[in-house]
Amino acid sequence: MPRQLLQFCRVCEVYTLKTECPKCQAKVTQAPPLKWSPEDKRAHLRRKLENVEDEEWSNSLSRFNNTDD
Ligand SMILES: [Zn+2]
Repeated sequence: MPRQLLQFCRVCEVYTLKTECPKCQAKVTQAPPLKWSPEDKRAHLRRKLENVEDEEWSNSLSRFNNTDD
Protein backbone atom coordinates (compact mmCIF):
# COMPACT_ATOMS: atom_id res chain seq x y z
CA MET A 1 0.00 0.00 0.00
CA PRO A 2 1.54 3.29 -1.06
CA ARG A 3 1.97 5.87 1.58
CA GLN A 4 -0.73 8.50 1.33
CA LEU A 5 0.31 12.07 1.73
CA LEU A 6 -1.75 14.43 3.75
CA GLN A 7 -3.58 16.91 1.56
CA PHE A 8 -4.82 20.33 2.52
CA CYS A 9 -7.62 22.54 1.21
CA ARG A 10 -6.50 26.13 1.43
CA VAL A 11 -10.07 27.36 1.03
CA CYS A 12 -11.61 25.49 3.98
CA GLU A 13 -8.32 24.91 5.80
CA VAL A 14 -9.24 21.24 6.01
CA TYR A 15 -6.90 18.28 5.93
CA THR A 16 -7.80 15.18 3.97
CA LEU A 17 -6.19 12.10 2.47
CA LYS A 18 -8.28 12.35 -0.69
CA THR A 19 -7.56 14.38 -3.79
CA GLU A 20 -10.61 16.55 -3.32
CA CYS A 21 -11.74 18.60 -0.40
CA PRO A 22 -14.57 16.83 1.50
CA LYS A 23 -16.22 20.19 2.08
CA CYS A 24 -15.99 22.17 -1.16
CA GLN A 25 -14.80 19.44 -3.57
CA ALA A 26 -11.97 21.67 -4.71
CA LYS A 27 -8.66 20.15 -5.66
CA VAL A 28 -6.49 19.97 -2.61
CA THR A 29 -2.80 20.54 -2.42
CA GLN A 30 -0.18 18.67 -0.50
CA ALA A 31 -0.07 19.83 3.06
CA PRO A 32 2.70 22.33 3.59
CA PRO A 33 5.62 20.47 5.19
CA LEU A 34 6.68 23.09 7.69
CA LYS A 35 3.43 24.75 8.56
CA TRP A 36 0.67 23.07 10.53
CA SER A 37 1.61 19.48 10.04
CA PRO A 38 -0.11 17.25 12.61
CA GLU A 39 3.11 15.29 12.71
CA ASP A 40 5.41 18.17 13.39
CA LYS A 41 8.79 16.61 13.78
CA ARG A 42 10.47 19.98 13.62
CA ALA A 43 8.34 21.60 16.32
CA HIS A 44 11.19 21.61 18.76
CA LEU A 45 13.40 23.31 16.18
CA ARG A 46 10.82 25.96 15.40
CA ARG A 47 10.27 26.63 19.08
CA LYS A 48 13.98 27.26 19.35
CA LEU A 49 13.94 29.55 16.32
CA GLU A 50 11.07 31.59 17.68
CA ASN A 51 12.47 31.63 21.20
CA VAL A 52 9.22 30.24 22.58
CA GLU A 53 11.03 28.84 25.56
CA ASP A 54 12.57 32.22 26.20
CA GLU A 55 11.26 34.19 29.16
CA GLU A 56 10.79 37.25 27.00
CA TRP A 57 8.42 35.35 24.76
CA SER A 58 6.08 34.34 27.59
CA ASN A 59 6.18 37.91 28.87
CA SER A 60 4.98 39.13 25.49
CA LEU A 61 2.02 36.74 25.74
CA SER A 62 0.86 38.02 29.11
CA ARG A 63 0.44 41.48 27.58
CA PHE A 64 -2.59 40.21 25.73
CA ASN A 65 -4.38 39.65 29.02
CA ASN A 66 -4.25 43.33 29.95
CA THR A 67 -7.23 44.37 27.88
CA ASP A 68 -9.21 45.83 30.78
CA ASP A 69 -7.18 49.00 31.16
ZN1 LIG B 1 -12.38 22.97 0.64
